[in-house]
Amino acid sequence: MTINSSCCSCNSGQQRWAKSNEPRSATAPFRIDMHTHIMPPNLPDFSKLYGSTEENGEGWMTLRSHYVSTGGVSDLTGAELNKVDMYVGEKFFRTVEPNCFDPVVRMKEMDATGVDVQVISTVPILFSYDKPIEPAAALARYLNDHIASVCRDNPQRFVGLATVPLQDVSSSVAELRRAKSELGLKGVEIGTEINGCSLDDPKFDLFWAACEELDMPIFVHPLGYELERENKSRWGNYWSAWLIGMPSETALSIHTILSSGVLVRHPKLRFCFAHAGGAYLPLLGRIQHGYDCRPDLVAHRSEGVSPQNYLESHQHNIWIDSLVHDPDLLQLICKKIGPNRIVMGSDYPFPLGEMPNPGEMLSSDAKVGELFSSETRARMLAGNAIEFLGLGDMYQEHKI
Ligand SMILES: [Zn+2]
Repeated sequence: MTINSSCCSCNSGQQRWAKSNEPRSATAPFRIDMHTHIMPPNLPDFSKLYGSTEENGEGWMTLRSHYVSTGGVSDLTGAELNKVDMYVGEKFFRTVEPNCFDPVVRMKEMDATGVDVQVISTVPILFSYDKPIEPAAALARYLNDHIASVCRDNPQRFVGLATVPLQDVSSSVAELRRAKSELGLKGVEIGTEINGCSLDDPKFDLFWAACEELDMPIFVHPLGYELERENKSRWGNYWSAWLIGMPSETALSIHTILSSGVLVRHPKLRFCFAHAGGAYLPLLGRIQHGYDCRPDLVAHRSEGVSPQNYLESHQHNIWIDSLVHDPDLLQLICKKIGPNRIVMGSDYPFPLGEMPNPGEMLSSDAKVGELFSSETRARMLAGNAIEFLGLGDMYQEHKI
C-alpha cells in the first residue's frame, strides 16, 4: 500500500504502514470507518466560564475521573483508572473508556481489528444546539481544534469532521470556513434536527450554500437523548430512544430534506446519514406511495423530484453508512440505494456499534461474501468513503 507522501509523519500509524510495502492481501482490504466518535480528554467547565444553562434546559457537559467518582476503589485496573464519566450538568450520562479520547489506544484497537483509517467526529451530545450561541461556538471551536490536532499528529490514521453551532447559521458558516481553511477538516457532522428545528427550515440554506462552496460533505447523526427529554415515559424505557427513536429521527431527517427541495436548490450537497439512514430505506415504498397518492401533502415543496428519484444510481447526494447488524438488511438497502452509496461505519467506540470488530460484516461475514463481490465490498469498506469525503489525493491506490 502506498499513501500520498504529503500525509507522512513520524507516528505509530506511519511506522505500522512503513513496515509493509507489499500490496495488501485480498483478505484484508483497505478499511475506512466513516462513523466513529471522539472527544477531548478534558473539557473546560463552561458553566464557570459562561454561567449555568440549567434554567433553559440541560447543563453543560463535564468530564470527571471515573476513579474519583467511584471513590477511588483501590483494586481498579489500569483501564478502570483511565475511564471517564460524562455528566450533563449534575446528571450522569455515561462512562467512557480511554478509546473514546486517547488516539494511541484507538490506533492499537484499529491495528488489532484491521481498520486503516477512522473518520472522527464529535460525540453528538456535545453538539450543544440548545445552548447560548457564544459559549456553544466556543465549544465547537474547542472540539474542532482537538479533532484537527489528532488528525495532524496521525495524518494516516484519522480524518476529521467539524462540528458547528447550528442554532446560529452565520456562526456555523464562519466555523465551517475555519474548519476547512485553517484546520484541514474534511467535512462536517450535524444532528438530524437542530434544537427542535428540522433541516428543511429555509434558514439553513445559507449553511447548505457554504457546504457547497467549500466542498464540505455532511454527516448527519441522530440525537436519541432528545426524545427522552421530550417524553421520558414513552422513550425512557428499554433503551427505546436509541433503538427505535434514533432510526426514526434519521428517517424523518431524510424525509424532510428530500421533500423540501433542499437538493434542488443545492445540487452539489453530499449527505451521509448514520445508521444506514435509520428507518428511511425500509420505509421507502410507503413514502414513495404517499408522494404519489397525496402530492398535496408530500410533494408540494419537492419541485418535481420524488424520493425514489433521489436514490437512483446517477444521483450523488445521498450516502448512508453500513451499520445495520444484519446481512439481510444490508442486501435490502443495497437494492434501494446501490452499493456505491454505502460507506463502512461502526459507531466506534460505543457498544451499540459494530463492536468489537468494525467492518467485520462487510469484510468477513459469509452471507455478505455470497451476496457481494470482493470489489463491491472493497468499495463499501473504503472506496465510497474516499469519494464521499473527496480524499482521492490521499488514497490514490484505493480509489475505485
Ligand atoms: Zn454515532
